[in-house]
Amino acid sequence: MSDCVFCKIIEKEIPSEFLYEDDLCIVFKDINPKFDTHLLIVPKKHIPTVMDMEDGDDKIIGHLIACAKKMGIELGLPGYQLQINVGKDGGQEVFHVHVHMMSNFV
Ligand code: AMP
Ligand code: ZN
Repeated sequence: MSDCVFCKIIEKEIPSEFLYEDDLCIVFKDINPKFDTHLLIVPKKHIPTVMDMEDGDDKIIGHLIACAKKMGIELGLPGYQLQINVGKDGGQEVFHVHVHMMSNFV
């Protein structure tokens, strides 16, 4: 999606520091953090919202949660919140599915 900011980050058209990357997802810091730790876990596949998930995408979304677990261990976070905003009326601003990983621990 040429006009999608997260696709541009994935394609490295917009510079961003990846904290983690594998074949399915990337992790980077939210540009406007609302917690001491505020990461975005983003699938490489452009899925606009949870409402647009297709057959097989459950594996990708599940992978994002597994990735959060991995990041939590790596960063030594004792606890965190995971949030997915769904649709404009669900507070979503960037229409490329992502998990917010938020914690007041660093
Ligand atoms: P949402 O409201 O769930 O769509 O959240 C989108 C999030 O993306 C917001 O918390 C923004 O601060 C964040 N964001 C937007 N553009 C960028 C960017 N270029 N790099 C990092 N985070 C971004
Ligand atoms: Zn995208």
